[in-house]
Parts: sequence; C-alpha cells; structure tokens
Amino acid sequence: MFFHVLRGWLAALLVLVPAIAAGVTPGALCPDCSPEEARALDRLLRGQGLVVAQNNEYVALDTGVALHRECLTVFGPKLPQLVHEALARGVRCMGGYGTASARSLVREVAHVLGKQSAPQPVFLCRELYSDHMKGVGLRSEDPARSPYIILSPVLKGEPDEYVLSVIFHEFLHLGGDGHQHGAHREVAGPCQHCCFEAMPLAHAARPYACRVCTTDYPDKFAPEYLGDLAEWALRTPGSEFIFRVNMLDGVKRAGGDVRFMAQLLEHFRDHPFGFEMARMAAERYAWPEDAERQVRAIARKQHGHVTKLFIPVARAVAEAAMTRFEAGADPAGATGTLEAVSGLLAESRLPDREKVDRLDLPYFYKYYYEFALLRGVMAEEVHGLWLARHNACAKQEAAKQEAAGQDVASRETACSEAAHRERVFACQKVGLDYDARTGRCR
Ligand SMILES: [Zn+2]
Repeated sequence: MFFHVLRGWLAALLVLVPAIAAGVTPGALCPDCSPEEARALDRLLRGQGLVVAQNNEYVALDTGVALHRECLTVFGPKLPQLVHEALARGVRCMGGYGTASARSLVREVAHVLGKQSAPQPVFLCRELYSDHMKGVGLRSEDPARSPYIILSPVLKGEPDEYVLSVIFHEFLHLGGDGHQHGAHREVAGPCQHCCFEAMPLAHAARPYACRVCTTDYPDKFAPEYLGDLAEWALRTPGSEFIFRVNMLDGVKRAGGDVRFMAQLLEHFRDHPFGFEMARMAAERYAWPEDAERQVRAIARKQHGHVTKLFIPVARAVAEAAMTRFEAGADPAGATGTLEAVSGLLAESRLPDREKVDRLDLPYFYKYYYEFALLRGVMAEEVHGLWLARHNACAKQEAAKQEAAGQDVASRETACSEAAHRERVFACQKVGLDYDARTGRCR
C-alpha cells in the first residue's frame, strides 16, 4: 500500500522533472562554455539515453557517449538511461552551485561529450582486477583514442542510485587533468557523494562532500580544503584512505619540517607503508623526544604474510617521499629533485597478483589499490617532467629534421628515453605498472 502511494508521488514527480529541466539552459549551467561545449551540454540535457546509432560492437546514445554491447548484456536494457541520467543530474547538481570550481567541472563534462576532433567516450562493462573497484575512468593522452570507463559487473546488484553515482564519479575522471586521487584536488568522490543519494551510511558527511566538490579553494594544500576533506573522507566508508593519500602529497609543501613527518607517519601508523617509512625515517631525522618514541613504535611493527609482498614498493615510495620532503618547501619541484624521485620510482613494481593465494586476494587487493594510489601521488609530477622533456625533444628533432630533410624514424630514436619514461609514469600516476612487452599500462 505504502509503495503504491510512493509510486503515485514518484509518477507525479517524473512529470514535473522534465518541465523543470526544460528551464535549465546550457548557458546558465556553463556560462564559459565554447559553442561546441554548449551544444554538447544542450544535447545532454535534451537527450534521454536513446540509441541513435549502432554497429556490431557499440551503441551510440543521444547523450554523446557509446556503450559496448557487453554493457547491455551485463546490466540489461536500462543502462543507457542510467548513463544518461547520471550525467544529466550530475551537471545540473554542480551547475546549481555557481562557483568557479563547480562551473569548470560542468564545462569539463561538456568538453568530453563535445569533442568533435576526437572519438566519443566509451563505456565498457567487464571485470576489474578487484571486486573492491566498482569502476575505472581513464582519459586518453592520445587524441585519436577514446577516453573510456569500465563498469564492473559487481555493480549489478547495487541500487540504481548507487550505479548512477559511480558512473558520474568515473566520468569526472575523463575531464580536465584526470583528477587523480591524492595528487590533485579530490572531486570525483566528493561530487559523487554530493550529487547523488548513494551513501546513506555517510549522510552526516554529505555537506562536506558538497563543500569539497564546489568550493573555490586557493589550492589543494589550503588548510580549509584539508579540513573539509578530512571531515568528508574520514566519515565516509571507503574514502578514509583518500585523506591519507592527500597527507602524503603534503611532503611537497612541508618545507622539511619533521613535525609534519611525524604527523604523516602517525596517519600511517597501522599501514605497511608507514612501517617501512618509519624504519627509514627513524634514523634519518633529528626528532623531538615525543615524536621519536612514536616513530620508533611504528618502525617496530611487523608485516603479515600478505603485506610483506608490498615491502619493495613501500620502500621505493617512502624513499621518493622523503627525497621530496628533504628538498624543502618547493611546490613546483626542482629538476634535480624530480630526477631523483624518477630514479627511485622508475623500476618499482606492484606485487604480482598471480602468486597470491586465492583466499588472500580480497586482503591483497585492498593493499594493491592503496599502494597504487600512494605511488601515483609521487609519480604525478615526475610524469610532468618527462612529458615536458619528450615534447621539447620531439619539437627540437622535428626542426632539425626539417632542416636536414630526414624522416620521422630518427626523431623517435633521439627522444626514446624521454618517451619511455613518460609512458612509465603515465601508467604509475593512474595506479598501474608499465608493461614493456606490450608498451601499455597494466
Ligand atoms: Zn576515482
């Protein structure tokens, strides 16, 4: 009975919603949008998730995205509408805040949907390496390739509202700089939480999710930002680790202050990364007395049989973080420091999952994901170094060859070192290892 009443209300609401939506113009949601972006936003707001074109592999939606047919097999025929609703509700929600940060996120979504020179975003639906991961969103550095989202079949049993929120989260990773967790200001998680009713367990944290998503902070190291982030992440199941990763990023601004290092280690006191970093840092710095006791206590902690697999990557990331920390207050990172960090991380590998006992896998994957995030934070600016070098080298070689009338092949050879490093860290910054055999991230 109750449900019938509820349904009646819902039906009434659904009639009203398009009327309200019709009043929202792309111009109001995104005043800075280019004509191309405004057209994409308009198409999104007018669309319904209908299939407008198809071939053997993909269906294209009036939303501006394509779904692999496997998605219809996994999630059934409702997925196109869910994808559409996720994006349309997400941009309306953020557009309503009117801050520069929120507007720029709306514009990014419009930009990804409206790129005429690049293939449209693609949704795939297949198993991810861990059941803890619900989805992945990866932008493409290569303009000839689509940015893509993978939705895990583990989402199938979840409420629609949660699936919508995950789709929106992953889509935000396709825009702008990719919004990687830790190295950039957090937007994907907080905006997901702010714009969808999908996290009932963290209801009290939702106002902070909206603050983190939409406030115009000076930068990601600003105390207001870190305060809001802590309020949100520490009260939202599954996001606690995101806060610690942001703390690690703080080594870039700490100016070598050992009190910061002591606090950082305290955040990782029960984590295998913290054990390794504390062992290395205990002897390396002159600690105030109380901090020394605390750091030595963390340094004495022992690994379990699964977490010991992470010792090599833990040491590489810890050494990289301390190198960055010791360079002093240096937000941009001097070239010499970044080269040292690059050398420490270049050969680091996440442990091989094939060798782990099946029963240990859920536990293993938790740490796998966390170490991927920790390394990603340190790899981010190193990637920037190699990307700039590779671009500069390619430009210089192109000019030389034009003058000498040579072919393109020798340019590849001259820049191969920078090209290789750029690939390695492009993989690491999104939490993956570079596979030299295939030349791709895995
Ligand atoms: Zn994410």
